[in-house]
Amino acid sequence: MSKTKNQPRRKTEKGRNSKPLTRIGYGWDSHEFETSIPLKLGGVSLPHSHGLGGHSDGDVLLHALTDALLGAIAAPDIGSLFPSSDPRWKGTDSSVFLREALKRVRAAGYAVSSVDATLILLAPRIGPHAEKIRQRVAELLDLPPDRIGLKAKTPEGLKTDNAAIAHAVVLIERRSTAA
Ligand SMILES: [Zn+2]
Repeated sequence: MSKTKNQPRRKTEKGRNSKPLTRIGYGWDSHEFETSIPLKLGGVSLPHSHGLGGHSDGDVLLHALTDALLGAIAAPDIGSLFPSSDPRWKGTDSSVFLREALKRVRAAGYAVSSVDATLILLAPRIGPHAEKIRQRVAELLDLPPDRIGLKAKTPEGLKTDNAAIAHAVVLIERRSTAA
């Protein structure tokens, strides 16, 4: 009696525990502009009078992307893995965080399929640097650049002229070779 009753339940549990084919992740970040520090966005150094302060090198785009990757596999976020209170991460190249997140995505049995991100900042203008940033993010994620969406907007009416904001979403797909 118990056998026949248990069989369907086991199937259901197995189904619930199996890995979904695709998952999405979302990340958001903001940093304040400060004078006399270098500006890095998407792993690219940009010429500007101000840089972004705060955690590591202040690369708001790589931080949002890192959180999107971590979120896609329901892992702890960037602040938990690399706390800004830890002096080890002061001034760190944020590609270190993105690569670690990518490693975790792969270890979970997934591959990044595509990424889409929006930067919101008053200056500098991103247009002239957008291709370089896409190339660099693609390189860091081992993806072709045409899988990297990147838009930039100015913060109309947000009263955040001294901040850079980044939103990012990522789609990950289960690898067929996944254990
Ligand atoms: Zn950040």
